[in-house]
Amino acid sequence: MDLSARQRRSLTAICDTFAPGADGVPSASALGVPDAIAEALDLNPRATERKQFGLALAAFDSKPMTAAGGGGWNRFSDLPQDKREAVLRSYADSRLMPKRGLFHGLRRAALIHYYGLPARDGGASPVWGAIDYPGPLGKNPDAPPKALTPAEPQAQMECDVVVVGSGAGGGTVAGVLAAKGLDVIVVEAGGYYDDEDFDGGELDGLRRFYLNGGGMATDDGNIALAAGAVLGGGTVVNYTTSFPTPDYVRKEWATHGVPDFDGQAYETATQAVMERLGVNAEHSAANPKDAILERGMRELGFHVEPIIRNVGPACDQGIDCGRCGFGCRRGAKRSVTKTWLQDAFEAGARILVRTKVDTVIVEAGAARGISCTTADGRSVRINARGVVSAAGALHSPALLKRSGLENRNIGQHLRLHPVTVVQGWFDEEVRPWEGTMQARYSDEHANLDGDGYGVKYESGPLNPSLLLPFLPWQSATQHFEYMAAAKFSAACGIIVRDRGEGEVKVGRDGQPVVREQLAEVDRGHLRTGIEGAARILEAAGAQRIFGSSAKLVEYRPGQSGSLASFMAESDAVGYENGQVALGSFHIMGSARMGGSPVNAACNPDGETWEVRNLWVCDGSSFPTAPGVNPMISIESIAHMNAQKIAARLG
Ligand SMILES: Cc1cc2nc3c(=O)[nH]c(=O)nc-3n(C[C@H](O)[C@H](O)[C@H](O)COP(=O)(O)OP(=O)(O)OC[C@H]3O[C@@H](n4cnc5c(N)ncnc54)[C@H](O)[C@@H]3O)c2cc1C
Repeated sequence: MDLSARQRRSLTAICDTFAPGADGVPSASALGVPDAIAEALDLNPRATERKQFGLALAAFDSKPMTAAGGGGWNRFSDLPQDKREAVLRSYADSRLMPKRGLFHGLRRAALIHYYGLPARDGGASPVWGAIDYPGPLGKNPDAPPKALTPAEPQAQMECDVVVVGSGAGGGTVAGVLAAKGLDVIVVEAGGYYDDEDFDGGELDGLRRFYLNGGGMATDDGNIALAAGAVLGGGTVVNYTTSFPTPDYVRKEWATHGVPDFDGQAYETATQAVMERLGVNAEHSAANPKDAILERGMRELGFHVEPIIRNVGPACDQGIDCGRCGFGCRRGAKRSVTKTWLQDAFEAGARILVRTKVDTVIVEAGAARGISCTTADGRSVRINARGVVSAAGALHSPALLKRSGLENRNIGQHLRLHPVTVVQGWFDEEVRPWEGTMQARYSDEHANLDGDGYGVKYESGPLNPSLLLPFLPWQSATQHFEYMAAAKFSAACGIIVRDRGEGEVKVGRDGQPVVREQLAEVDRGHLRTGIEGAARILEAAGAQRIFGSSAKLVEYRPGQSGSLASFMAESDAVGYENGQVALGSFHIMGSARMGGSPVNAACNPDGETWEVRNLWVCDGSSFPTAPGVNPMISIESIAHMNAQKIAARLG
């Protein structure tokens, strides 16, 4: 995005306030952060959002805005560092949600680029040296060549079933249907990347493999939304935690008018998925960050268990594993690219990449194919007897609405499993960016109300790009000090099984727009999780414990403050959007299955109530949040519904 002189001055001042550099460490602008952000803005497909951001930037440096932020009648860029920091803090503390959202958006953008960019000459960033982070690992010289060959899009194509999106849902459907002899075409908007392309680089990884270059968020900017956008979708970048759907969730889902969830069909599907993904318990070595969590959980007498994972013997559970969120360069992750899409390809399915589906073609109430556009602007029409929308829980509802479907449940009932983090500093070196991505979990507080709703505790691969969105920024000095101590920190992630619902609306441009406000009950559970996580870290021996509140809230067990003061201060900041940093890695429920068109977008077979031979098979299909990491559930639903699709189109 081209910035005006005023916007550039504003962005430069903001970036340098977040990261002014010192003692030989360059400032954000010296590293090229404002230019990199301007470039990254182009990865947002929404012109209106780019324009709004541009307007906000231009206004930010105006005298009235600076005065409103407590900086007097001055331009923000003319203020000294301490005054600029105070203005930024006024945004973080604001009672107005959009101001908090702007703060979080700017903070994420400035700091993820600051800690992610290489040096200007392309070499190692001096910032990595200053925090003792090794930077990208580099490519694997022994990586095998790619196993799949994408097909060349033609102006007109024909098949039995066209699958839109190739992630957990789409990949599975394609594999099952092609193995049953149906002629399948998979259309994926993202590119095809495999072992030979992965180098553990964060910024480049976000840009190439994540939706909107990793910059997707709710429309108020307060909840960062992470989703994969490559061949294989989220399964290429996810953390390989492989929980099947819990029985109590299956029973709850069955009450939504889909009895199969509690029956043999779903059981068989889950078994097939677990087997094809090679889910096993042999790759859950507790690295330092997970050993710390386990220590704390055991000390408290909490439930704790190893996490089962879909990886093969090549998983090193070490340095490489920690970077797997940017693709596994050892080929150990059993993503759908390595499994179901491989099956589909071997059975003759054609796979189109870098091709976006615009609409489903509907004639006489039935799906007849799709129209799509290649990255170089060519139009493609694919005629088919059936269409499966598996574009993920943001883009599937958008596709259905763009195609004229009107069921009011499309885009409703969105669940996000909102995540926040509590961190602790330890005497021992943890290097939380190394080792098994997630090796231990606890369900100690998974059932807070007696009906299976609560929080799950898990760790995560804390590379700077994952750490930064949750690390409080009170001042540049404080923040840099905390980044420099990151190698001594372990984090306890809190995943809320959300009862409240968000919404995916569709802009005039056809793009998804996400609205989500945490329901009161979910905020209560989040609070319980924050307290539980602090207790775990304290029991594990943390020297200093801090949360992800918009203000720095912390205590030093036995030295200053206490769990009680920590919770009182967290409560004072609050748990509304933006008062605590939130992210989502699990986007679900926005075109759900159910027994009636009154409360569901799709019928118990996953077919839309409105259009025959149009199915949805992805995270959108969930009747409610599962409370566990969703990949296995998504693939199980896709596997189960694929049997029904095959029976229809056989
Ligand atoms: C960083 C991260 C870590 C995670 N860790 C775990 C974990 O450890 N365990 C777990 O169970 N889950 C995990 N998840 C969640 C899990 O990976 C996702 O829930 C799952 O991949 C979603 O599957 P899906 O089929 O709904 O969509 P996706 O896998 O997101 O696939 C949708 C695909 O559709 C494509 N698409 C979108 N629009 C179009 C269009 N118009 N035309 C063509 N293609 C389109 C997208 O590019 C994308 O590739 C993680 C997710 C992330 C982002």
